[in-house]
Amino acid sequence: MTEILVLVDHADGAVRKTTTELLTIARRAGEPSAVFLGSGYEAAKETLSAFGAEKVYVADAPELDDYLVAPKAEVLAQIAANVNPAAVLIASNPDGKEIAARLAVKLESGIITDAVDVGADLTTTQSAFAASYSVTARVTHGTPVITVKPNSATPEQAATTPVEEKVAASVSDTSKAARIVSRSAREATGRPELTEAAIVVSGGRGTGGNFAPVEALADALGGAVGASRAAVDSGWYPHSHQVGQTGQTVSPQLYIAAGISGAIQHRAGMQTSKTIVAVDKDPEAPIFSMVDFGVVGDLHTILPQATEEILKRK
Ligand code: FAD
Repeated sequence: MTEILVLVDHADGAVRKTTTELLTIARRAGEPSAVFLGSGYEAAKETLSAFGAEKVYVADAPELDDYLVAPKAEVLAQIAANVNPAAVLIASNPDGKEIAARLAVKLESGIITDAVDVGADLTTTQSAFAASYSVTARVTHGTPVITVKPNSATPEQAATTPVEEKVAASVSDTSKAARIVSRSAREATGRPELTEAAIVVSGGRGTGGNFAPVEALADALGGAVGASRAAVDSGWYPHSHQVGQTGQTVSPQLYIAAGISGAIQHRAGMQTSKTIVAVDKDPEAPIFSMVDFGVVGDLHTILPQATEEILKRK
């Protein structure tokens, strides 16, 4: 079997769901080996073995967390050069994409970013131009470095007892050129991160600035809250929650758009969602041309009804 490296995306050892998705994808193509960089390995162990990591390369080095991503890319490149894996899979988020780019340069390998699917033969699918096109691509030179968007696979458990291999984090001064000075946590909402959430409920201009029904439905479903640019520009919701061309791209299992007309720039950020539901009082709203389920009505009535029903069934 061929070894596939999966870079673990974590915060102090709390493994993000994207990593369990990557391990699932890696199992289709070979034997997944997780690469854990930074502090908190003990907390990550259980998840990595539950989702099928056959091996874990561990550089449990707190100093890797003190810098921007360059040291991580350097250590990952050292591991990849030693192991010569069939591919390296990394989560498609800003840090992951920068690590992937640096890794590909160091390995002199081809890179594919933002894959939404990776086949057993490491052929990837990307979604381009606001999901108007699907691109099938393969790396033809070196070790394929592939970043995969969150929610591209449903994580499947496969219990293993991974072999652990400690790796020395030997990092050059060049990689330590940018040190993190301070970190400030965003206000905790208890909701999942927008780009990683399996369910996203978004509100638009139709909310009239009242996001309470949107948030209540998101909470009932355990989802994240998104917003259209109209809502963000009106100051109703933070820009970090904007979905679309000039905001975040999401690809959840379920996307609910409430009071959002469906402009092309909004679609660009949510069109690859697996199931799309819209609530809009205008039956002619363009969003209805792309939905799996549409509800014509006032969101201030429909959303609380849906929330109540969901909570009843919990
Ligand atoms: P509207 O288009 O005004 O739609 C509001 C909808 O709410 C309507 O369909 C209306 O029928 C419905 N409604 C009203 N009241 C209710 C109610 N009580 N109950 C139910 N439905 C109701 N937009 C983005 O979203 N994301 C982007 O990243 C983005 N980037 C852009 C980049 C560029 C360069 C440009 C030019 C535009 C961009 N836009 C983006 C803006 C985009 O073109 C639209 O203007 C925007 O998406 C509209 O937001 P909306 O659907 O909330 O508002």
